Amino acid sequence: MKIVSSNLLLDDETDPVIWRGPVIAGMVKQFWTDVVWDHVDYMFVDMPPGTGDVPLTVFQSIKLDGIIIVTSPQELVSMIVEKAVKMANKMNIKILGVVENMSYIKCPDCGKEINLFGASKVNDVAKDFNLKVLGKLPMDAEIAKAVDAGEVETLNAMNYLKDALQEIEK
Ligand SMILES: [Zn+2]
Repeated sequence: MKIVSSNLLLDDETDPVIWRGPVIAGMVKQFWTDVVWDHVDYMFVDMPPGTGDVPLTVFQSIKLDGIIIVTSPQELVSMIVEKAVKMANKMNIKILGVVENMSYIKCPDCGKEINLFGASKVNDVAKDFNLKVLGKLPMDAEIAKAVDAGEVETLNAMNYLKDALQEIEK
């Protein structure tokens, strides 16, 4: 998995990136134009939440197959999703679907799924905007641990997400 991130270019990785929108947008563009990617099967551009400079730049300057909207189960989600949907529609970008992150946690004792932030709303939101629900991802300390250790691909983290990922692949 090849990655590039502004953090990788800093002298000290704890330095904050204190740049205004246009500068960040320029950097994102350069990640697309100036990085030698060779052949990659899939390229993901992980974007900050909202409809600011970065998504605008990405939508305008990179030929996208589509976008995946990532939400969480809170109340404001439908408004935020609506903004993203409207932005994508205005710019003729295809929406591949919606993923609910932090959807639930699994009880370590009995395996019951607990909706930490209240009941999932992703199905309703998806229906409102005629979107496909690609999956609901749980919060899982094991995954967080693996990510922090830089071992997400070696640990069984992907097993935890297997069902969700299979759903996405469908
Ligand atoms: Zn339990």
